Amino acid sequence: MDILLVEDDERIVQFLRRGLRTEGYRIEVAATGQEAMALGLSEEFQLIILDLGLPDLNGLEVCEWLRSRRVETPILMLTAMDTVQDKVVGLRSGADDYLTKPFAFEELLARIETLLRRRGGEAKPESKELRIADLVLNRETHEVRRGAQPIELTPKEFALLEYFMEAPGKVLSRTRILEQVWGYNADPLTNVVDVYVRQLRRKIDDGHEEKLLKTVRGYGYKLDAPSG
Ligand code: CA
Repeated sequence: MDILLVEDDERIVQFLRRGLRTEGYRIEVAATGQEAMALGLSEEFQLIILDLGLPDLNGLEVCEWLRSRRVETPILMLTAMDTVQDKVVGLRSGADDYLTKPFAFEELLARIETLLRRRGGEAKPESKELRIADLVLNRETHEVRRGAQPIELTPKEFALLEYFMEAPGKVLSRTRILEQVWGYNADPLTNVVDVYVRQLRRKIDDGHEEKLLKTVRGYGYKLDAPSG
């Protein structure tokens, strides 16, 4: 998942690059409007995070220019201004969403995920079946099987597996999993994620030569097809 980050403030770049990489995104940075337009036009990104105050151009101009060239990548605008008027202008210029500085990283992540999901949802409707290698999860019937073998999961294990299967190959941190599957009020010091991942792994991987649920040391976990 590639994100173009257009931002001239080095501290914000460092902070976002580190945070977003940890979440499994690949980040390309442009520090000027010109650079952003060139990259935005020549390369394919899943999302553009666009600062409004750039050294050469205004973020609004960059946004309008990209849209005029039929670049339809979702654009999340960042700005220090937060009046209703600015918001309206930002969205009219073709931005999809808007975030006022200073912002919490979790808020940015949530917006990014919504934009990416909205976009994916337009391209193809949410599938009721998720599949990685021979592991299949059905969201409607709540049935899970590996090959021909049905797997019994508790509701929490099911939610955890569904979260993994929505992001195949993406490394998910314990914090992220805890927030997404257990909710923001979950105690961050608990080891509940590790416990559940172990249980889930036992159920989906035990007895199979190809293991799907992997530990990425120092980062978290990922569910991935054996070859990928
Ligand atoms: Ca700036």
